[in-house]
Amino acid sequence: MQLLKDMIVTKGRVDSEHILKVDGFLNHQIDVQFLNEIGKEFKERFKDQPVTKILTIEASGIAVACMVAQYFEVPVIFAKKTESKNLDAATYESQVYSFTKDRYYKIRVSKRYLGSEDKVLIIDDFLANGQAVLGLKEIVDQAGAELVGVGIVIEKGFQQGGKLVRDQGIRVESLAIIESMKPGEVVFRP
Ligand code: 5GP
Repeated sequence: MQLLKDMIVTKGRVDSEHILKVDGFLNHQIDVQFLNEIGKEFKERFKDQPVTKILTIEASGIAVACMVAQYFEVPVIFAKKTESKNLDAATYESQVYSFTKDRYYKIRVSKRYLGSEDKVLIIDDFLANGQAVLGLKEIVDQAGAELVGVGIVIEKGFQQGGKLVRDQGIRVESLAIIESMKPGEVVFRP
């Protein structure tokens, strides 16, 4: 998606540890008009799928997922990272290793909102080592729901996540795939 690539080049910043910072439009300050275009693009790519729920992880996936959900006209469920009295006792749970924080955390989704009748589209901002997506897939599996695809805004193609997830036969659509990057330079996969 050319608009996204232009945003990454003009507003993204690569730091020394292979982290792309996009906090000017996606991860901290949110460019809503731009995200709306992202939502439209995912709808176009997955329009053949009978999606009933969009699933993501808090926090940075939520804004993207909401933009996609308005085009599918279905609810968004975001997996929670913290235990809370607001959450039902009956939950699906899985463990996720965080690449950016270098630690494991648990994610939870209430059994009330996901069931065997659901066709789920997973949406996230980044695909790096694939742990977030695989943790969400585990929750979809526990619910007995069907995973119809994974939509990623930015895939870091030089990390193993894309291969790991696609090797499981899961359809992954990434709007930009980064082949390599270093401070001041981002190279996209054609
Ligand atoms: P994975 O589980 O695929 O290793 O990592 C995906 C999650 O890590 C994403 O949800 C995202 O929040 C975060 N992440 C991974 N790499 C980057 C990066 O280069 N930049 C930013 N901003 N987040 C990242």
